Amino acid sequence: MHLKDILTRLGIEANNSGTSTGTKWLPAQGSVVTSYSPVNGAVIGTVQTTDEHAYEAVMQQAQQAFLQWRNVPAPKRGDIVRQFGDALREYKADLGALVSYEMGKSLQEGLGEVQEMIDICDFAVGLSRQLYGLTMHSERPNHRMYEQWHPMGIVSIISAFNFPVAVWAWNTALALVCGNVCVWKPSSKTPLCAVACQHIMAKVLKANDLPEGISSLITGNPCGNLMNQDKRIPLISFTGSTRVGRLVAAAVAGRFGKTILELGGNNAIIISKDADLEMSVIGALFGAVGTAGQRCTSTRRLIIHKDVYNDFTARLVKAYGQLKIGDPLDENNHVGPVIDKDAVATYLSCIEKIKQQSGRFLVEGGVLNGLGFESGCYVKPCIAEVENHYEIVQEETFAPILYVMKYSDIEEAINMQNNVPQGLSSAIMTLNLREAEQFLSANGSDCGIANVNIGTSGAEIGGAFGGEKETGGGRESGSDAWKGYMRRQTNTINYSNTLPLAQGIKFDL
Ligand code: NAD
Repeated sequence: MHLKDILTRLGIEANNSGTSTGTKWLPAQGSVVTSYSPVNGAVIGTVQTTDEHAYEAVMQQAQQAFLQWRNVPAPKRGDIVRQFGDALREYKADLGALVSYEMGKSLQEGLGEVQEMIDICDFAVGLSRQLYGLTMHSERPNHRMYEQWHPMGIVSIISAFNFPVAVWAWNTALALVCGNVCVWKPSSKTPLCAVACQHIMAKVLKANDLPEGISSLITGNPCGNLMNQDKRIPLISFTGSTRVGRLVAAAVAGRFGKTILELGGNNAIIISKDADLEMSVIGALFGAVGTAGQRCTSTRRLIIHKDVYNDFTARLVKAYGQLKIGDPLDENNHVGPVIDKDAVATYLSCIEKIKQQSGRFLVEGGVLNGLGFESGCYVKPCIAEVENHYEIVQEETFAPILYVMKYSDIEEAINMQNNVPQGLSSAIMTLNLREAEQFLSANGSDCGIANVNIGTSGAEIGGAFGGEKETGGGRESGSDAWKGYMRRQTNTINYSNTLPLAQGIKFDL
């Protein structure tokens, strides 16, 4: 794999503008962000971030573009998204490799992320002919009542580092077919993935002679605050930590804007005494160490029945012993680096807190040094025996640290699963139908995602994705998540020659 060729094909240069209105790249005076690869510590390139002047130019262009885009018939907007999906197919190998190199996830996961982008484009194309509203029966004679869905305007997408391309595509594909224009602010930890995506999008916009402002890119943390306050943005779709999500939610609600919030998780798998333990080991292992524990759906807690606890943890410890840690672009490795040295520091501080709070390590952690680990971002996945109420267990630590704990009956297990502030993904491994159904019932998991005999990690684009409580309550991707990107309007039409009022009210002169 020749990284230099990949970067060239994706339009990445040594120094890049981080501001684009579509096909045009704007000069900007914001600070310069350097992108280092966590794989080997090398500089991949720099990005000049968006200053206030360039931000203003992007927003004005987006406002103008919306006036045209909202009048393009939805199926024609769908055709543009179809072409974007085709362009992604063409660049899948290159973009997947860049995701792996800049973010540090395995090449297979990088490619999988681009596949998700392609899949959501396909989904959105079909959706562009299915933005259905309901028709209701009016209580008044010769009246017709129905609802329709209209575009909202500028949809701003703020994304996290761990899914540097897919989260943007989930939002953009849907928002575009709904008739909105999009402005993307990616994580400053993965800015080059965003620049590459914008180049791919630009090809489609150019080929169709579309106006500037339909799909724009801005970069740099200050843009987040500018958007939170900007009344021209009716919807901010935010993916990131609960800490920042709380700031965004409060600021946007303060101006009566809308948000879609996709925040942190603290996901658990219940391992029943009736589980297929072999399958459960695989589910728990991938969930906990995949993407080096940096998925919002990563498995953080295993709640294990006391009768199988010793057997299951012994199998898991053995499996951890076989993990190969190293370059994520080498398919023989299972675990790549975490994103940067700050993430390593967070991991180490979490390990200290586990010890202080009486946790006991079944597999010890630590930072790897030496040949192949020069970036300083490679850490050992570890397992700690804890109790659910420990302060550190109640938090999301974005690293490959797995907590194990015991339970006696299913009600206790469900209580433990629910007894954290977050509510994203959850799972039960069991062959017992009663337990499985109880877990999925109203008395069961309180999460946005609840699985049976599948781990917590990863999701298909066809379902609505998101979680409850401190995970923010937003939904993205499949099912009817598109409704979050449109405004609903109820219409009543009177085709009689009288004007009856609702609820039988009389108002005669
Ligand atoms: P983060 O909260 O640090 O950053 C997310 C984004 O917010 C970045 O683009 C950042 O630049 C921006 N930002 C920072 N300050 C801002 C402000 N004041 N206003 C607006 N935007 C601001 O998160 P991260 O470290 O990049 O990502 C990890 C977190 O994201 C984890 O908590 C993870 O669970 C969560 N996540 C959630 C989902 C989900 O779908 N629920 C998906 C992926 C990641």
